[in-house]
Amino acid sequence: MKIERIIVGMHETNTYILNEDKTNEALIIDPGDAAKVIMKYIDRNQLQPMGIVLTHYHHDHTGATEELKKKYKCPIYAHKKEEEGLRDPQINLSTVMCRKLISIIPDKVLSEGNIITVGSLDLHVIHTPGHTPGGICLKIKDTNIIFTGDTIFKDDLGRTDLAGGSEDMLKKSITNKVSQWSDDTIIYPGHGEIATMKEARRSGHPYLKSKR
Ligand SMILES: [Zn+2]
Ligand SMILES: [Zn+2]
Repeated sequence: MKIERIIVGMHETNTYILNEDKTNEALIIDPGDAAKVIMKYIDRNQLQPMGIVLTHYHHDHTGATEELKKKYKCPIYAHKKEEEGLRDPQINLSTVMCRKLISIIPDKVLSEGNIITVGSLDLHVIHTPGHTPGGICLKIKDTNIIFTGDTIFKDDLGRTDLAGGSEDMLKKSITNKVSQWSDDTIIYPGHGEIATMKEARRSGHPYLKSKR
């Protein structure tokens, strides 16, 4: 298994390309921009993208989606509560912060507990609303790796003041789910450095409790 992080766009979003060595099947997570750079990596390593997963609807996580889908003919996955935001450029903020309007219709809608398979790897969908209504984290089964989108970063939690955000929901997601992750869990966030939960807990955020 290999995870490549490519930092894209003006918000320095982390796009991740996860691939399984045996089959070279790959999953593209949050292709926010720079489609050509992402394609170059995929083609140079002869990977076969099996899907594009969007952790949430913000434009900085989705900007290269259509171009990649067109080239690799793979389905787009997103949580069902993200459908409206993905479709509506006002909600996904591409009207104000992006060079182009973004409107995406996912091919496969996800819910809590769904599994996305890449070769022998299973990714488990964890619904963590708050930053957006259908924000998700993805845990690679039988590992301590979790892709967290904009739900949690090394030094902070996702903001809740943008369209569709909810402080109450974020508090619940962090208290009931994220706080249950052990200190040795490695988070792959939507922005900034990859970190352990131990490091994230050092931020001292009041919602982020020690594992019970
Ligand atoms: Zn976001
Ligand atoms: Zn973001």
